[in-house]
Amino acid sequence: MARPVIAIVGRPNVGKSTIFNRVIGDRLAIVEDKPGVTRDRIYGTGEWNGRAFSIVDTGGIEIDGEDEIMKSVRMQAELAVEEADVIIFMVDAKAGMTHADDEVAQMLFRSRKPIVVAVNKVDNFNRMDDVYEFYGLGFGTPVAISGSHGTGIGDLLDAAVEKLPEQVDEEYDEDVIRVALIGRPNVGKSSLVNAILGEERVIVSDVAGTTRDAIDTPFEKDGQRYVLIDTAGMRKRGKVYETTEKYSVMRSLKAIERADVVLILINGEEGIIEQDKHIAGYAHEAGKASIFVVNKWDAVERDEKTMSHFTQDVRDHFLFMHYAPIAFLSAKTKQRLHKLLPIVNHVSEQHALRIQTHVLNDVISDAVAINPPPTDKGKRLRINYATQVATKPPTIVIFVNDPEIMHFSYERYLENKIRAAFNFEGTPVRLFTRRKS
Ligand code: GDP
Ligand code: GDP
Repeated sequence: MARPVIAIVGRPNVGKSTIFNRVIGDRLAIVEDKPGVTRDRIYGTGEWNGRAFSIVDTGGIEIDGEDEIMKSVRMQAELAVEEADVIIFMVDAKAGMTHADDEVAQMLFRSRKPIVVAVNKVDNFNRMDDVYEFYGLGFGTPVAISGSHGTGIGDLLDAAVEKLPEQVDEEYDEDVIRVALIGRPNVGKSSLVNAILGEERVIVSDVAGTTRDAIDTPFEKDGQRYVLIDTAGMRKRGKVYETTEKYSVMRSLKAIERADVVLILINGEEGIIEQDKHIAGYAHEAGKASIFVVNKWDAVERDEKTMSHFTQDVRDHFLFMHYAPIAFLSAKTKQRLHKLLPIVNHVSEQHALRIQTHVLNDVISDAVAINPPPTDKGKRLRINYATQVATKPPTIVIFVNDPEIMHFSYERYLENKIRAAFNFEGTPVRLFTRRKS
């Protein structure tokens, strides 16, 4: 089920990133102590009143030139209008209503998207006069918050979550593999889509796109049905807009949420950059199967070592995604293209794999026999049993005497043993430890 997206829009310095960090705070803490996961984030996930959502801080889009602030705010608002399900429009109680607020309000108003006005920096709730002024924006009752004190955040989330759209069920059958192509602009997404669809024996279905986006392309090859979720096809904007990282991240986010398998495109000609990591990190966190696709391989000067060097480069940059296979190809010449769909099929199977409990426990027992669990303050971790509780991604719960003494490194050891036994190539595996004596 795709998570809806909440976007925060507003002038610089109203407190967007402060609030963003408060909303994703808990989760951030969990994610951050894992090596390789990027720290500089602009999206996160949250849950409130039982609704899971993604949240994006659209702030910080930077443009050179005159009237820079207004331009960047306008761009954020456009981005949010296009991609978000609910928009939090943040203003500053201390600064009062400004011309920029007014202009953004008009853009948002025309979009007809659900809007919640958050009046930040209300550090003293006795001073509500500063808040009432923002009724004038025309979006109903503003919510007073303080990023510094953390007050009002619950009310804000109440208001935002209430406006989220109803969950719609995906419109594809279970046996259809949903494939998203993500990557920064010019990496070759559109070219790859065309190359795949132009291949021999691909039957492109002329069924109209889905209810959400008209850019889904269903097709069939060798009896397997797929749908391509293309993040490039919907491009309408000028270059400046489209090359801002937030634009592609937000667009990718939605495609990833709807996918089973994510093709993370990398430009073989240019190598890996930071932006590639942001996007890949999201596929990982969303629990999707992933394949690195190194495109433009035709344009790379190669010798017999080039591929292994590039492979090492991918492994070094994406430490947390050691499980994802790497495909080298050229969308332009179709070189090695025929290898791609078989890998998609394979990782999709692995993503949906279900291991029988007794088989899983045999592997865990062997692992424990070779390398006994850690002790902590004289207490030894005892593993009672493990069971797979979900697929897509495979999710395993390990029942132990005391989850507190399970070390990250031991969990990693178990994951490695599980992978050695069952492979799970291309998919993250989630391990949870629960108490049961
Ligand atoms: P952004 O540019 O909209 O992302 O704003 P930031 O989150 O970076 O915040 C801008 C400044 O406002 C920082 O110095 C924050 O410490 C400050 N700030 C954020 N929230 C509050 C608040 O509730 N009260 C006050 N007094 N300052 C705040
Ligand atoms: P997108 O922005 O990710 O959708 O990228 P496009 O598919 O529009 O491709 C961007 C540019 O890269 C275009 O000029 C393509 O012709 C070129 N391109 C795409 N794939 C390849 C490839 O495999 N090899 C080479 N040499 N160029 C490619």
